[in-house]
Amino acid sequence: MRLTGVHLLLTYECNFDCDHCFVWGSPQQQGAMDWEQVCEILEQSKRLGGVEWIYFEGGEPFLDHPKLVKAVQRANQMGFRVGIVSNAFWATTVEEAIAQLEPLAGRVEDLSISSDLYHADESSSPETRNAREAAQRLGIPVDFISIERPEAEDPTAVIGQIPAGASGVMHRGRAAAKLTGRIAKTPWDGFTACPFEDLRDPERVHVDPFGNVHICQGISLGNLFRTPLAQICADYIPEQHPIAGPLLEGGPAALTRRFEIPHADSYADACHLCYETRCALRERFPEILTPDQVYGEADSR
Ligand code: SF4
Repeated sequence: MRLTGVHLLLTYECNFDCDHCFVWGSPQQQGAMDWEQVCEILEQSKRLGGVEWIYFEGGEPFLDHPKLVKAVQRANQMGFRVGIVSNAFWATTVEEAIAQLEPLAGRVEDLSISSDLYHADESSSPETRNAREAAQRLGIPVDFISIERPEAEDPTAVIGQIPAGASGVMHRGRAAAKLTGRIAKTPWDGFTACPFEDLRDPERVHVDPFGNVHICQGISLGNLFRTPLAQICADYIPEQHPIAGPLLEGGPAALTRRFEIPHADSYADACHLCYETRCALRERFPEILTPDQVYGEADSR
């Protein structure tokens, strides 16, 4: 496993609680990295070798702006390229956005702004527009992440047609609980591959405030506060991993079959079946299918 990117979930807390959130982010959600943990994860990423990019995300990483700025500076000094994912709630005016972004200018190479109808009443909110203008003035590369709504609230809309520049919802985390009732389903045994993650040779992992190293949100390869990241990577044999192995063999359908998990006839997508099956397997694999936050068990809204 040769990682080129490590994504730090600085916090599970978010000012929003969007229906499509993979990690059940919300204002009530618990779990944030302290400064020592940020430094430890950066050090371990450096020692691993080959890691080029560090991303800071969440939850919402701008909720603790001083820590975010320090973390970006530290990552930058260590020679990493740095990206941030944010919903831009802080960009109430262009001037305010400039004040927030100025300490990051020249250090951040990718500012990804979540901009869609889950985060605001308009697909491009004033805050996201302010953030983009401020970033452009400061020379920070910026782009938008847009998740299209799956349900056809507009009777002229056609399910499955996603506008250019937008992505479809992946029905895991809160999306599996909140959105799957509204859309067409596909027979469960047709989900024979993981469509989104390279489980065999991942280029990036997410590390959360508890040290869990996620290959996909809620599937942990180990805890880097207990086992060094380099060791976790060296020990990862995809085919032998209890969850990744079956997923590689035959997708979520194979995972469900392997453990004889009761299932419905049909699901919204591969992630929906995968997530529901993993929820049913948590007691059996508590160290892997973790933490409670990602399974909606720390904040069940
Ligand atoms: S199928 Fe499972 S492992 Fe693959 S992206 Fe979806 S939730 Fe993650």
